[in-house]
Amino acid sequence: MDKLPDALLYVNGEMRTAGDNQYFDNINPWTGASCGRAADATAADVEEAIVAARNAFDNTDWSTNHDQRYALVCKFVDVMVTNREKLVQISRLEVGSAIGAAARAQIDGALNGAKDLLECYKQVKWEKDLGIKHEGGFDTKRIVTQEAMGVVGAITPWNVPLYVNVGKVVAALLAGCTVILKPAPDTPLMGSIMGELAIEAGLPAGVFNVITSADPAMAGEMLTTDRRVDLISFTGSTAVGKLIMKNGAESLKRVFLELGGKSAFIVLEDAPNFAQTCMGSMVVFHAGQGCAYPTRLLVPKSRYDEAVGALDMAYKGFAEKWGKFDEPTCIMGPVISKKQQNRVMEYIEIGKNEGARLLAGGNARTDMGGGFFVEPTCFVDCTNDMRIAREEIFGPVLVVIPFEDEEDAIRIANDSDYGLGGAVFGPTDRALAMTKRIRAGALSVNGGTSITGDLPFGGYKQSGMGREWGLEGIEEFLEIKAIGIRAS
Ligand code: NAD
Repeated sequence: MDKLPDALLYVNGEMRTAGDNQYFDNINPWTGASCGRAADATAADVEEAIVAARNAFDNTDWSTNHDQRYALVCKFVDVMVTNREKLVQISRLEVGSAIGAAARAQIDGALNGAKDLLECYKQVKWEKDLGIKHEGGFDTKRIVTQEAMGVVGAITPWNVPLYVNVGKVVAALLAGCTVILKPAPDTPLMGSIMGELAIEAGLPAGVFNVITSADPAMAGEMLTTDRRVDLISFTGSTAVGKLIMKNGAESLKRVFLELGGKSAFIVLEDAPNFAQTCMGSMVVFHAGQGCAYPTRLLVPKSRYDEAVGALDMAYKGFAEKWGKFDEPTCIMGPVISKKQQNRVMEYIEIGKNEGARLLAGGNARTDMGGGFFVEPTCFVDCTNDMRIAREEIFGPVLVVIPFEDEEDAIRIANDSDYGLGGAVFGPTDRALAMTKRIRAGALSVNGGTSITGDLPFGGYKQSGMGREWGLEGIEEFLEIKAIGIRAS
């Protein structure tokens, strides 16, 4: 397997090493070995990035010259598209994506999303005329404007790094903000490469900066507590999201959080192709490392045995189809890290101990080399009060829960601290009516796609606050100003 180039810092328009020249290893999840190095930023490097972003916002016309900015961001997206193959390669080696997941979801999803954002930008209403109001004995002409929020700290996770980086960076730049991107230590190059591409696109110095760091918290905490940073857009775990909200409180920073999930996949008794639909609920794509992945399968008691039989067949049929680096149709590779592998295995033990029945998988596959492989795993006979049904595992683990009737299915779906995604399969009208009662941000009816770059994405409850992508995702980076002009 190939090596990847060094992931460097991108600060004030330049790619460079860390101030003290230190690097950390970029680990390939397929082998557990290093596939490259990443610059290990110091606090002084983060400081420099904040100064550069602040200066580009305060002292250049980046935030006000809409046409010039739009042209440059279009060019930036073009350059990303031209470099698709490079991005796919990073996604395979650094993120551990199987080819079938790397090209389709990881990279094309991000690039298509970027193009969607360029279209959504055209819908932004920078100025609205609210007409004349007679109040207090005189007339006032009123306008409401939208303006860039300022300097954005974008803190991102490792599971779909390009997708999340693009969702924040492209939207924030389009809004006229300047950005400091802090990618996860597990996927530094997918952040750093965006700096290289920004240079190729001709983005002005300072409007976009990237800081890679081995310490998961240092740079993010600096961005969150610094008064010169106006907004934090964070995607990651709910636990770190809560910390960011607390840390941002002192400066009353705008904080937008895209967090974890434990979404439900509901198959109604009279869903067409019942068995096939249940088979499609396997949590295997990208080893289950997706925040909106519906990882709780809810099936009717009346057809429970049939559902379990279908899943048994599906998991047996998939047993030899995962973990293949060079197979173009493969959609499941390793999990990202040893730490994540241990976490998933701990949850599998918890599931066994709390009485769920293991239908498939359940093992870490150390016989497959030094990579972080966990078998596609399915627990049946689960109840919604089990920890494996309540907590986000973020690995290839499906839990199957029987329900009595539609009311019960909605109750179980909503009985969660999370509310990110979900899916209902059944006669369309009833399935649609059910999705409207599920408290989550992105719902699919009969397999429809509810997550694309032109649709708002975000969570209810502890899955977060704010919306990314779509027009709403650009407006998240805007402030609103009301202006009254005395007219008589
Ligand atoms: P994480 O919360 O551990 O880390 C996310 C980012 O926060 C990383 O860049 C990390 O370095 C940084 N960070 C860690 N501690 C910090 C601190 N104290 N202050 C500031 N930043 C800090 O999450 P992860 O393990 O990288 O990613 C997996 C999680 O991300 C899952 O919970 C998943 O559901 C969630 N996720 C959510 C979405 C979404 O849109 N809702 C999308 C992808 C992933």
